[in-house]
Amino acid sequence: MITIKSPREIEVMARAGRIVAETLALMGRIVRPGMSTEDLDDAAETFIRSHDGATPSFKGLYGFPKTLCTSIDTEIVHGIPSSRRLLSEGSIVSVDVGVHLEGLHADSATTLAVGTIAAEAERLLEVTRQCLAAGIAEARVGNHVGDIGHAVQQVAEGAGYGVVRELVGHGIGARFHEEPQVPNYGSPRRGPRLLEGMTLAIEPMITIGDPATRTLGDKWTVVTADGSLSAHFEHTVAITANGPRILTAA
Ligand code: MG
Ligand code: MG
Repeated sequence: MITIKSPREIEVMARAGRIVAETLALMGRIVRPGMSTEDLDDAAETFIRSHDGATPSFKGLYGFPKTLCTSIDTEIVHGIPSSRRLLSEGSIVSVDVGVHLEGLHADSATTLAVGTIAAEAERLLEVTRQCLAAGIAEARVGNHVGDIGHAVQQVAEGAGYGVVRELVGHGIGARFHEEPQVPNYGSPRRGPRLLEGMTLAIEPMITIGDPATRTLGDKWTVVTADGSLSAHFEHTVAITANGPRILTAA
């Protein structure tokens, strides 16, 4: 069932989303070579819990142990922060975070450069950002879920990149993962129709090489099967009468 949120619920999600955005901005300020992904996680959890009533959405979700997902280079999503995973100069790290506030969630991700990165990594980040923007632009009353995926796919494949198929965006609200699924591929005018009050997490996962995935032995970390670089950007977006409203904007 696709849930429609009231204006009041959307305002609560926007407040959760602001905490999410500020958490990711903090990650961008502190990330540096030599720090561990657990250092990022500790800072994110402390920051989120410093807001009255706010808690990390991921901690305990399906048994996930941490506040962030931190996915380095060839890791696509769901990397588990660890004191043993140190960030290297020239790496990229995708940071995904959710916040639960007054019964509702918000969800966003960004991919950060660690120090100076190669031109091909810069281009991947730029194109994945463009994919997210193109998907969000289609999140309008009367469009369909397939319009979002189609727009993302056009930008990614137009740049020669791969679109991950096994992982998709999602509705979000009182539950972290709600219907509908929001694939990053698809056909225009296909899938559920978008209605005012729907809230969606739109989240392109884009690869330089082939988009096939495999899951590591920790049962969480999803990587590119061919070892190519991957990036992930995400916003939680409300469908409004005035067009898409990004609830996790900085
Ligand atoms: Mg996320
Ligand atoms: Mg999500």
